[in-house]
Amino acid sequence: MESFLKAQRGSHVNGISELKTYLHRFGYLLPENANFSDAFDATFESAILHFQSKLGLSLSGKLDFDTMSQISAPRCGVPDTISTFTLHGTRHYMYFPGKPRWARRMPMKLTYAFSPDYTIRYLSSSEIKAVFKRAFARWASVIPVSFVETEDYVYADIKIGFYHGEHGDSEPFDGVLGVLAHSFSPENGKVHLDAAETWAVDFRSEKSAVAMDLESVATHEIGHLLGLAHSSVKEAVMYPTLKPREKKLDLQLDDIEGVQALYGSNPNFNIGSLSESDISTNQAVNVLRKISVATGRPLAAKCNSTGRPVEYIPVARCGRAELFRKLKQLAASARNFVKNLYF
Ligand SMILES: [Zn+2]
Ligand SMILES: [Zn+2]
Repeated sequence: MESFLKAQRGSHVNGISELKTYLHRFGYLLPENANFSDAFDATFESAILHFQSKLGLSLSGKLDFDTMSQISAPRCGVPDTISTFTLHGTRHYMYFPGKPRWARRMPMKLTYAFSPDYTIRYLSSSEIKAVFKRAFARWASVIPVSFVETEDYVYADIKIGFYHGEHGDSEPFDGVLGVLAHSFSPENGKVHLDAAETWAVDFRSEKSAVAMDLESVATHEIGHLLGLAHSSVKEAVMYPTLKPREKKLDLQLDDIEGVQALYGSNPNFNIGSLSESDISTNQAVNVLRKISVATGRPLAAKCNSTGRPVEYIPVARCGRAELFRKLKQLAASARNFVKNLYF
């Protein structure tokens, strides 16, 4: 593990091949630029820097502890979106290629329904419905869009279901942790949750160490349904990773600005109700310029499949459960190594 943490451009380290597969899967390495060997090459270094900038980490270009922790954290299955947009502004929210949104007359009403077939048995349907009702209400409070539950699954605008493994959209789920859920950009309307997770509605009754908060993930996935991609603001609901037993429910200024730029503001929304700390998380970071300087590469390098609807972004064909297991091992040994080194 020592060599892993110390690895830099020119190194060959067992495990880098898996990291490349991960970085490719989530939009940081284009297949034509990548060789999936264990070589720490310039393309890999650039992908690491982009990952660090997107996740709001320090730009070391190395496989440091924070980077490995984020790589091994449970996350949303939607690939991260990177563009030169980040360079110009102070904002960290992002949209999908083409900036799709629901095109209906304002104020807009969208219906949602739960799949009668693809569900989980250990939570009651009323518990699941209450969670989603609260998650939808958060977004509805900031934009002139309302969400109404319907029993008519076939004709609902938004369709929610829990699925195991391969489920027909070439984005198979990977079992416990790893990828938790994914959803699609407007106006697709589908939300898929990994049925293999231990979904929790109340951590007082759900004691599992790998329990994931259903409401936090629901709130995040609704952001995608509305047209938001992943944000680099760590506190934002649209940040791509979430730890087991962590709750992230409140929309941050970054989430709100992003969604209001698509739909306008709910006339009843008052920005003054946000706390100081919500606002201070929105800081300007000129990250791509730093990457450009560090790697000697032009700023226009793209790391995602820009121009394609998100549902068609190709994914690496790999045993992802296997991949995440390996990544978790690597992160665990990195953690032990850092502990031994400093304590
Ligand atoms: Zn996501
Ligand atoms: Zn799916």
